[in-house]
Amino acid sequence: MKVGVLALQGAFDAHARVLDRLGVATVEVRTADQLADVDALVLPGGESTTISMIAQRTGVWGPLGEFVRSGRPVLGTCAGLILLAGEVLDGRPDQVSLGALDVAVRRNAFGRQLASFEAAVPVAGLDAPFRAVCIRAPAVVRLGAGVEVLAEVDGHPALVRQGAMMGAIFHPELADDPRLHELFLAG
Ligand code: GLN
Repeated sequence: MKVGVLALQGAFDAHARVLDRLGVATVEVRTADQLADVDALVLPGGESTTISMIAQRTGVWGPLGEFVRSGRPVLGTCAGLILLAGEVLDGRPDQVSLGALDVAVRRNAFGRQLASFEAAVPVAGLDAPFRAVCIRAPAVVRLGAGVEVLAEVDGHPALVRQGAMMGAIFHPELADDPRLHELFLAG
């Protein structure tokens, strides 16, 4: 199994390091050809507006849409979750998303003082809490019927799953803990 990490902007390196640690082959994905070569994909945190703009400019946006709709495993973290979402609130007026995950998200929803914070959260499928590192995190403000909540922060969904797709409002690649990536790969 080869896992692609979208490497246009943001925290893609840290994801690749966690996957390396798990002994998983990774590919940095910037083009449609590289995308065609992977079985699963990670959309990292960063800046969702920038990532989508670069993806549109380089022509990889269309293939990304096809990939996420194909039912193959996709993990979107923070900005990556925003890219997957069906609806984005407080986005830039021209901001686009892939619309594959049936949730609405509000960008930067935790306010200025709480721009960054950490919380130890219980996660369905993990036997001990996971350190959720939130950085200008989005909030999931609407959940579609087919979307399952695997973890919550402050009573709000923090980790969701729909089919083979997973979305986290936090940065699992910064927790020094590979269990969330393992959970993702276990499907
Ligand atoms: N606020 C960022 C965005 O809107 C996401 C932050 C992050 O990925 N850490 O894209």
